[in-house]
Amino acid sequence: MTESTTIRWEQDRTGLVTLVLDDPNQSANTMNAAFRASLAAVTDRLEAEKDTIRGVILTSAKKTFFAGGDLRDLIRVTPETARELFDGGLEIKRNLRRIETLGKPVVAAMNGAALGGGYELALACHHRVALDAPGAKIGCPEVTLGLLPGGGGVVRTVRLLGIADALLKVLLQGTQYSPQKALRNGLIDDVAATPEELLAKARAFIDANPESRQPWDRPGYRIPGGTPAHPKFAANLPAFPATLRKQTGGAPYPAPRAILAAAVEGSQVDFETAQVIEARYFVELAAGQTSKNMIQAFFFDLQAVNSGANRPRGTEPRQVRRVAVLGAGMMGAGIAYSCARAGIDVVLKDVTAEAAAKGKGHSEKLCAKAVSRGRTTQEKADALLARITPTADPADLAGCDAVIEAVFEDTALKHKVFQEIEPILAPDALLCSNTSTLPITALAEGVERQEDFIGLHFFSPVDKMPLVEIIKGERTGDEALARAFDLVRQIRKTPIVVNDSRGFFTSRVIGHFINEGVAMVGEGIEPASIEQAAAQAGYPAKVLSLMDELTLTLPQKIRRESKLAVEEAGGTWTAHPAEAVIDRMVDEFGRPGRSGGAGFYEYAEDGGRGALWPGLREHFTRAGTEIPFRDMQERMLFSEALDTVRLVEEGVLTSVADANIGSLFGIGFPGWTGGVLQYVNGYDGGLPGFVARARELAARYGDRFTPPALLVEKAERGETFTDAR
Ligand code: NAD
Repeated sequence: MTESTTIRWEQDRTGLVTLVLDDPNQSANTMNAAFRASLAAVTDRLEAEKDTIRGVILTSAKKTFFAGGDLRDLIRVTPETARELFDGGLEIKRNLRRIETLGKPVVAAMNGAALGGGYELALACHHRVALDAPGAKIGCPEVTLGLLPGGGGVVRTVRLLGIADALLKVLLQGTQYSPQKALRNGLIDDVAATPEELLAKARAFIDANPESRQPWDRPGYRIPGGTPAHPKFAANLPAFPATLRKQTGGAPYPAPRAILAAAVEGSQVDFETAQVIEARYFVELAAGQTSKNMIQAFFFDLQAVNSGANRPRGTEPRQVRRVAVLGAGMMGAGIAYSCARAGIDVVLKDVTAEAAAKGKGHSEKLCAKAVSRGRTTQEKADALLARITPTADPADLAGCDAVIEAVFEDTALKHKVFQEIEPILAPDALLCSNTSTLPITALAEGVERQEDFIGLHFFSPVDKMPLVEIIKGERTGDEALARAFDLVRQIRKTPIVVNDSRGFFTSRVIGHFINEGVAMVGEGIEPASIEQAAAQAGYPAKVLSLMDELTLTLPQKIRRESKLAVEEAGGTWTAHPAEAVIDRMVDEFGRPGRSGGAGFYEYAEDGGRGALWPGLREHFTRAGTEIPFRDMQERMLFSEALDTVRLVEEGVLTSVADANIGSLFGIGFPGWTGGVLQYVNGYDGGLPGFVARARELAARYGDRFTPPALLVEKAERGETFTDAR
């Protein structure tokens, strides 16, 4: 009999077969060719030896139960090789179906994470028990990679939970549940506290159910909640387009639509036909560009970034024990919370004890909320708060091995606070500034140990935003860079590394997006269409509302400083058409943005955002200035992508993965693109197509769209933006 290697067959004297997923060549089990062959062999054997088998337990010898599809294979699928994927997928589905209809009880003993393909394997079992291990997640996150669950996940969740719950709880959001939450939401049948209990529960089910069948294979079965022809479903249906819209903002995400279609179409036909429908939609998504973009970014790039591909080699990993946070304002308070949450002692210093205590109050609020939502215990929240010491006394900073400065954005003030505390800190303390725009090299001139000085740019709100941009000044040493990297990982955030430049990567590039939106107002284009174009391009924030949030005086200030710097270096400042609009808004109309109570939008007394200011139409909008929607969207996307290429040219950015992840996690570049440089790679026609389109935009809208030399050269050489590692 065939003995497979990826799925190990163990059988006891009572006829209980345990199939152990244990790929000998990988640390996790994936749905690769070896698995497919093993599954076929195991299925044949189960059928051949059926009479001697009492039941089957499916479990794994790895830390995770099963990791799902092999993304290295999926990202390479082309329309030409899609047929192979289609056939392979159908083969797996057929074999799972054979096991499911064997007439013997089959139990998934889920010993660890079962995401995507892992949960789909479990769905093909008659009973699902999960070990309640920390970090064990269950669900179908395929949609977050631009895919759908193609291993029977759509077909079976619809039949298990009903269309509405399958779509809303599992398929469309890709929610990853803890075992307890998966149980509460009907994704699994039971949880176990220990590995022994897991197997005991699996055995007990087999003992009690010698002839198991899936609900959908029992006579008289109906999809819970009915099919689209059913009145209850019909009542729910109008909500789905809204859900899709809410999720995608109308941006080009093909997966949610394909999931909806596969679920609805598959619910109206028999199980086998539904499997084929699911396979067709799956292959269409896998062969398309969006899933490639999303897999590249959210899997490969993210892994490269977090694993330290950009961290200097040869430096020992270090942990921070006690950090000083200077300035307990919006950013300092958030940074203090994130550090304390990671177990680091925090000294939170402001000019007065009251201001420092107010900063700690931010953590108190976040902790109370987390306790009330059941996300943490009172005990853990108390311990977190006990780690934060608010103070106005510099002496309390003694012994801190790192400092993160977050006082007002002012070079002289930043110099002064570092001078005051440097002698008090541990002699080799890491010195970080959370400036969002000021060049790090110049800030470092205010300290003694310039090699230990580095930029650590957090994003607001700090507790939610996963990115930290690390900025290396001219004199920053490798040791400091490695320590900054380790600190960001210690607080469980994602670090990208860039070289010093005014505005670094993120602040500079997002400025181009905003400028482009504002420039269109100046051209006379209807403001509501500009907002709609940004949303439909997939930006999480509309462009004019984002400008209001940041306040219009900020770009004025940055412009003044940047202009001065350019002129001091002997250059000439090239004005952007957005500048005139911003100046009129602030100086002529007194509308500096949300904090000033008036901007592109109107604001209520309590700060709530109202409608677009009607004055925009009166003072700016002109009939006959409309341009195609695609141009509006691409002006925003291209303005960011082209400046990113310039940053690569200038040596500010040194990693493609960092550029992609930074743009997605830090400044809201649309997720379907896979990040700002992947957008260029994946553009229709590749780099030559991107260059041609940039030239068109330059001819129509201005020189700022002229493609940089690096882009043109790469296009000519047939290259794309990749990290050669
Ligand atoms: P904020 O005005 O909310 O807070 C600044 C705090 O610094 C205030 O509490 C102030 O009392 C305190 N402070 C001033 N002088 C001090 C001194 N000598 N010693 C100790 N504390 C002092 O400002 P913020 O929004 O938190 O920004 C702080 C820094 O972070 C700035 O450099 C800003 O550019 C940067 N930043 C801001 C954002 C953002 O979204 N707001 C994002 C990234 C970076």
